Amino acid sequence: MSGPADFANDSVSYKTLLESTLAIPWKIDWATRQYAYVGPQIETLLGWPQDSWKSVNDWAERMHPDERDSVVNFCVAQSEAGIDHEADYRALTKDNGYVWIREVVHIERNARGEVESLIGFMFDITERKKTEEKMVALQKELEALSFKDGLTHIANRRRFNTSLEQEWESARQKRQPLSILMFDIDYFKQYNDLYGHIPGDQCLTDVAQTLSLALDGPRDLVARFGGEEFVVLLPGADASVAWKVAERCQRMVQNKAITHAKSPFDQKLTVSIGVGTTVPRDGMESSAFIEAVDQQLYAAKKNGRNRIEGG
Ligand code: GH3
Ligand code: MG
Ligand code: MG
Repeated sequence: MSGPADFANDSVSYKTLLESTLAIPWKIDWATRQYAYVGPQIETLLGWPQDSWKSVNDWAERMHPDERDSVVNFCVAQSEAGIDHEADYRALTKDNGYVWIREVVHIERNARGEVESLIGFMFDITERKKTEEKMVALQKELEALSFKDGLTHIANRRRFNTSLEQEWESARQKRQPLSILMFDIDYFKQYNDLYGHIPGDQCLTDVAQTLSLALDGPRDLVARFGGEEFVVLLPGADASVAWKVAERCQRMVQNKAITHAKSPFDQKLTVSIGVGTTVPRDGMESSAFIEAVDQQLYAAKKNGRNRIEGG
């Protein structure tokens, strides 16, 4: 039986081992910046022949320009400081493609403690990077979806709540006003009964799009609050601005001229709107403000619908 000592002394076995792994071994003489060795696997992976790797310049030149400066600077600085390190970058292939590489570098010193050479492995991490990129894209997509209303594709209530909390805090700090409009479609149950649930859904989408078009502030937000109710958040808007936006919304829904045969308003679909403006102060809760605006919406319904109350 042969033991570890035999193996360590068997340079043929060592070479076989190094040159059959997927990781590509290499060695650089630090004084001359020349490759003393690079595994033959490099040609299989990148297409460049083993003997074309002469100096660190070959390495730097075959690196994606987006990573080149930062990776080269980092590796040189670490090597000069004598610190083992790792770096990820895209290596250029002979046929003009790119392969993601993780470089793992170990520093070898001479008897005086000076950096003598670098030895390392290049790992092909393309598949891992692809998976990572897919995960990041999926994560973003999921996050976007979790803030969107599935039917109307505008913001959902979750998104509204998140934005409200942020804007509430910002308005409190800056002592600025913040306004909210709450919408409820008039006689919508009858609309569904008359035309069916699918046209009802389409109508909700049309109203959502119309309200989106009525807003122009960079931080204005329209969200589906639930059922046939919508909410508009107007950061920085005082009562007179809020009222104007409410009137514009009402007018634009009117101009959309969605037929509703049972509507007393010219047989067209209308909305009722509650308006509220506040300057948030310490100790005030946004939920109490929402409740107050909802009361204005209730008043708009009670006072005949197709109208705006509050301010
Ligand atoms: P009001 O003028 O008092 O607001 O009367 P309304 O009929 O609009 O109010 P109500 O709350 O009685 O009915 C709301 C209706 O909205 C009930 C439900 O059928 C309809 N609705 C809620 N969500 C949806 C939806 O996602 N799609 C469709 N098609 N209809 C919905
Ligand atoms: Mg309702
Ligand atoms: Mg309604």
